[in-house]
Amino acid sequence: MKILVINCGSSSLKYQLIDMQNEDVLAKGLVERIGIEGSILTQKVNGKKYIIEEPMQDHKKAIQLVLGALVDEKEGVIKDMSEISAVGHRVVHGGEKYAHSVRIDSDVMNALEEFVKLAPLHNPPNIIGINACKELMPETPMVGVFDTAFHQTMPEEAYIYSLPYELYKKHGLRKYGFHGTSHKYVSSVAAEMLGKDINDLKIITCHLGNGASLAAVKDGKCIDTTMGFTPLAGLTMGTRCGVIDPAIVTFLMKEENLSIEEIDNLMNKKSGVLGISGVSSDFRDIETAAKEGNKRAALALKIFKHKVKLYVGAYAAAMNGVDCIVFTAGLGENAIETREEIINGLGFLGTKIDKEKNNVRGEARIISTDDSNVKVMVIPTDEELMIARDTKEIVEK
Ligand code: AMP
Repeated sequence: MKILVINCGSSSLKYQLIDMQNEDVLAKGLVERIGIEGSILTQKVNGKKYIIEEPMQDHKKAIQLVLGALVDEKEGVIKDMSEISAVGHRVVHGGEKYAHSVRIDSDVMNALEEFVKLAPLHNPPNIIGINACKELMPETPMVGVFDTAFHQTMPEEAYIYSLPYELYKKHGLRKYGFHGTSHKYVSSVAAEMLGKDINDLKIITCHLGNGASLAAVKDGKCIDTTMGFTPLAGLTMGTRCGVIDPAIVTFLMKEENLSIEEIDNLMNKKSGVLGISGVSSDFRDIETAAKEGNKRAALALKIFKHKVKLYVGAYAAAMNGVDCIVFTAGLGENAIETREEIINGLGFLGTKIDKEKNNVRGEARIISTDDSNVKVMVIPTDEELMIARDTKEIVEK
């Protein structure tokens, strides 16, 4: 069974074609600048690049070219589109309705439209991508895999905000959490690597990328996570502020005379390590600047690590213990020193890092010492594979 995984952004689209027999990635690609001048599709098969530069006025045209690239006689990997058994779509928001992935039908599409209110930047391109695929492959089953779904197991005390309760009912104002597919994937791989049943483990998963979140996964279920009603909450991120005193919002709007859009933009695009350092949103640039003596870059890193530590401590308390801490995503998989410093700050939990084992980038490995009470691991995330697995399971049902 071959499954096409689609992750649609507003002007970009990532895809992978995965053969589920042995979970081999047959082709992966990225389409950029959809609807903008200079549209470009880059497909990689076994590291070999195939580039198509052609105007793509919309996502339908982009997906048409993706399908064309996959069946291309010379550069493609399948003979015919009928070889694609199903399409798995990454969907950011599934509201409270979807705690699991779901086969897409008209009811699901209506629900996704409803959730646009909750994810106005993310759900619309996801919907456009699904509609384009449905038009081009009307007979192929489609599955929606939600970033929020894994977190739907959180108990009320974790997801209800301390605001008038009626607002939760009226607007769906609650913590949803994001990166769920990644947290689900790495927690299941962690259990496998430890040779233990996930139902007997307390795991803290740290998805540290440009967007960053932690999740507390107890007995295979998420019981809390750092992102909230939106992905703005929780940790200090590349450009997002994470948790701040909410009174700052009205203070800044008043003192700096900011509109709703301006304050939103400030917190989402100009804050985080970029805002603190004034250098970059990319942690590599910040690490370099800090090493060169830039104090604000060093401060940004300190704040970031401080927040990760705080939440690890909080989640260890929430689960009444922790067996395993997992690092994943761009920074989590690659930032050796940052990982070391975070773990060294968590000695009270019984974590001990093995410097040599920690000297690794992008490879699944236990990086704690053999006598560490808490196992610390690096596990490269693979959201596409998780989406493909869910899609396979649903279409086979
Ligand atoms: P992601 O959002 O998962 O793609 O992660 C992107 C983030 O990972 C960027 O901020 C990068 O700076 C960071 N990153 C990638 N490689 C490294 C590295 N070697 N050291 C530190 N940060 C890294």
